[in-house]
Formats: sequence, structure tokens, C-alpha cells
Amino acid sequence: MDDLKFGARNKRGDYTPSARVEIAPLWAWPPRLTKIIAWIPGYIWPWNAFHMATALAYWRFVVPDVETMKAISWGWALWLYAVNAAAIFVLYGSVELFYYVKRKQGARFKFNARFPADHPSDVFWFKSQNIDNFLRSYLISIPLWTAVEVFILWAFANGFAPWLKWSDHPVYLAALVLIAPAIHEAHFFFIHRAMHWAPLYRWVHSVHHNSINPSPWSSLSMHPIEAFLYHAVALWHLIIPSNPIVALFQLHVAGFGALNGHIGFDRLELTEESALDSHAWAHYLHHKYFEVNYGGDGVLPLDRWFGTLHDGTKEGDALMQARFEQKRARLNAKAAAEGGAPTSSTTS
Ligand SMILES: [Zn+2]
Ligand SMILES: [Zn+2]
Repeated sequence: MDDLKFGARNKRGDYTPSARVEIAPLWAWPPRLTKIIAWIPGYIWPWNAFHMATALAYWRFVVPDVETMKAISWGWALWLYAVNAAAIFVLYGSVELFYYVKRKQGARFKFNARFPADHPSDVFWFKSQNIDNFLRSYLISIPLWTAVEVFILWAFANGFAPWLKWSDHPVYLAALVLIAPAIHEAHFFFIHRAMHWAPLYRWVHSVHHNSINPSPWSSLSMHPIEAFLYHAVALWHLIIPSNPIVALFQLHVAGFGALNGHIGFDRLELTEESALDSHAWAHYLHHKYFEVNYGGDGVLPLDRWFGTLHDGTKEGDALMQARFEQKRARLNAKAAAEGGAPTSSTTS
């Protein structure tokens, strides 16, 4: 496909899509019903439908029966880890294999023209972004994701959380499924914003940001504290009346959905004529500029409300630069008042 029909490439070969980062039209005033109706299919298909399909498949084929889950044991915990690990391997690994190893579409639609495997760096274990990110995912994030999953299923099995049945509350539970991505977005925005507080950034979140040019394995490459907080989004379903399938959906939006922000391509070409929208642009800008786009896909426009949105356009860039300039001036004034040196860095 000709990616230049949908964006532009600079001298370095980096690609910028022409479409801006879209906020869900739910928040426009006055409400525009036609826009909302046009937005719904993309909200459901393909990514949220995929997360629901995997949640249902887990419930049917993976999750043990309720009697087993009443007592936590290594047997079913390790089984869940094995399935999570295998599913991540297939999902993330297939994007990695086709688009980063075989490079089937070269650098078309690729935000950063460079491929991480071509650029060893000391910040990574074994100087390799891929090996480092892969090991952190399998040794840290997937075990913690599984721990949250085991705890939730154990709590439901023992009646420690309100378990609503689909036959009794179909409308409420369907509505909860539809707002689960917004719960994810709010949870992620606030833990993420907190982790950009300088001391927490240095200690915890910098691990994830080592990947300035993220690729699929970067998605779950996290410090243990971040990995736990990130997947802990599903614990909200122990407080709000819910159902284990909805909790699994919430967990999959986090665990499998992390891939989206780190695909590195604006679109993944499927055939000569068709391509899948990755939804990666907003979070790519976060990895590039650090202090913009703390949220996810714009279901809740928290970045707009907090003034940290970068919509990917030149105007978005100018707004960000003005904000960074103000911050620099503030820090310099503070340093001058304390008799320190002026600062020139904006990075966390
Ligand atoms: Zn990221
Ligand atoms: Zn961050």
C-alpha cells in the first residue's frame, strides 16, 4: 500500500499519519448522534471484540471449575500462567515475526523508520531491546498478570465479590462490558500519570520507557510495581458488582491490549488493499515525547481535560512545546530562587 496517501515521511524516513489522534465523540457538546453512531463499529471491532472473544474462550476452555478455584494451588495457577504466556507468544510474536523479523511491509506506515533489532543499546539486558523486553514480560509482567487473575477467580469462587449472573442482569453486564475500556483508560491514566512523578519515574517507570522506539515486546516490559498496578485494573470488578467473564475481559483489554500502543506502525497491511488500524499513534507519541498522552485510546478524553493531549498534528506539537517551555521557565525560576543551576531538560 502507498502509505503516503495517508501521511508523510520526513528526511529520516519517520512516518507521520495525517489523521489526528481522535477523541471519542461521546464528549462533544452539543452531542452529534451521527458521529457517535459512526464511531461505534471501530470501538467494538476488531480489538474489543477480540478481547471479548478471548475472555469467553478462557471461561469455556481454560478457567478451572468453581470448586477447584475455591482454593489457590500451584496446579491451576501455573496452568493459567502457561496459557497466558502462550497466548501472548502467539499474539505479540506474530506481529513481531511478520512486521519486525520478516519486515513484510518494510517501513511503510512505521512511525520510526529504524528497527530496534538493528540498534543494540546499553540500557537493555544483553544490549538487546527485544531480549530485554521479552524476558521482562515473561519473568515479571505475565506472572503478575496471572497472580491478579488467580486472586480474582479465587475471590469470585469463594463469594468474596458480588457475582452477577448473565441470566439475571444481561443489560447491566452488557453495559459494564461496554464501559470496561473506559475503566481501563481511567485506571491507566492515573497510575501512569503518577509514575511520571520524577522519583517514581526514575525508580519504576523508566524501565518501560527505555524503549523509545517501541516494538511488540515493549508492551509488557515493565518494572514489577508497574506490572502489578497495570493489571490490577481488573480488581475493580471485585468492588463493582460484576461477573468473572467481565473481569477476564478487563484483564485481556490490559494484557493483550497493551500490544496496540506498541505496534510501531500506524497500520498493519493485511493484503495489497487492506490494512488494520493499529491504534498505536497516541501512545507512540508518549514514548517519543514522554509528557504527553498518558491515557489510552481516547474513550475518556483525560489527556484533553488535563491539558496533556498531543493529537499528532503540528498544532499539537506547538501546544506541547509551549507547555514544556512553561515548565522549563517554572523550574528555572524555582532553581534561581534556591540558588541552583537552570535546567534545560523537560524529560521527567
Ligand atoms: Zn508504552
Ligand atoms: Zn510513560
